[in-house]
Amino acid sequence: MTTHAPQAAKSQVTTAIDFERDGIQTGCLQVPYSHDRDAYGFIPVPLMVARHGDGPTVLLTGANHGDEYEGSVAIMHLMHALKLDELKGRLILIPALNFPAYLNGTRTSPVDKGNLNRLFPGDPNGTPTQMIAHYIETELMPKADYILDFHAGGITMDYVPMLFVNRPVDQAAADKTEMLIKAFAAPRVMYLDSLESELMIGSAARKNGTFFATGEFGGKGAVGAEGLAIIERGIRGMLQALGVLPAAAPMDDAAPSKRYSFRGDHYIFTPVPGIFEPTFELGDQIKAGDLAGLIHDPYRPWAEPERIYFKADGLAVMKRLLARVDAGNCLGHLAEEER
Ligand SMILES: [Zn+2]
Repeated sequence: MTTHAPQAAKSQVTTAIDFERDGIQTGCLQVPYSHDRDAYGFIPVPLMVARHGDGPTVLLTGANHGDEYEGSVAIMHLMHALKLDELKGRLILIPALNFPAYLNGTRTSPVDKGNLNRLFPGDPNGTPTQMIAHYIETELMPKADYILDFHAGGITMDYVPMLFVNRPVDQAAADKTEMLIKAFAAPRVMYLDSLESELMIGSAARKNGTFFATGEFGGKGAVGAEGLAIIERGIRGMLQALGVLPAAAPMDDAAPSKRYSFRGDHYIFTPVPGIFEPTFELGDQIKAGDLAGLIHDPYRPWAEPERIYFKADGLAVMKRLLARVDAGNCLGHLAEEER
C-alpha cells in the first residue's frame, strides 16, 4: 500500500484505444505491474469500445468481483452480436473489471488482495486494484452518461436476481430511474438507500454525476441461466430505450417489476464459529422469529447447536453457500416489498 496521492494525479493506466474514434475497437487497459517475474509489464483488462452516430455513452461492466459471472457473460454476448451500423452513441464494454481476480475465480485480486468495489476512489500510484479503481473513476466515468455494473453472489453467496437502483433524490433522477426500471424489465428491483459504502463504484458514479445502476443476478460462482437471461433482456431493453440500439422488434411484454428495499435488521449473522446448517431457501417469504439456521460446534459435536433467528419479515434474497462460518459472518439477508 502506498500513501494517498492527490486526486488530481494522472492515471498510470494506458490503452491504445481512442475513445473518441468512430468504429469498433478492442484491446485492453494496461495496468502497470512490476514484480519478481516481470519488471516492465502490465496487467491487461480487456475491453471493447464501439462508437457510431450521435447518442449517449453507456458503460457496462462485470466481474468487479472476480467470481461473479452472469454480467460478464452477458457483456461478451453483446460484443459478439454488436453491429456498428445499428449503433447510435458509444458503448464501453468491460466484462471483467478486476481481471486478475476474474482469472483466479475469486472475489478479490490474487495480485494485491484488492477488493475493487471497496477501493474507490482508488490511487493512481497504488496497487494494481487501486489503479483500476482510480482509472474507472477519473477516466471512464467522466465519459459515461449511464453506468451499469453487474454483480452476483460469487462463490460464497446466492442471490435472487435483482436490479439495484439508487433511491432517486430529485425528479430528474426519478425520471431516469423509472425509464431504466421499465426498460430493463427485471422481475425484481431493489432500492439502495443509505447502506451504500463510500468506497464503492456507485458512490464514485454519484460524485461524477453519472447515472448508475447495479444488481445481484445469481451466484454460486457459476453462470446462472435465470440471472443471465434477465441481464441480457435488460441490456437490450435499456439500450433500445436510450436509442443506442434500434427498437427493431417490440420487446415481449414483461410484468411490472416488484420493488423492494432492505435495512440493517434484514441481515442475519452468526455470533459463533462452526458449521452453518441453513433452514431457509432463497425466495422464501420469512416472518420475524422464523428459524434461519443452526450453527454446529465442531469441537463439541454433542452440544445443542446455536439457533439463528430472523429479526424481521421479508423475502429471502441472499443466502450464504459456505457451511464453514466464523463469528460475525453474514448468513443471508431479506428484502421488504414496497407497496
Ligand atoms: Zn460483487
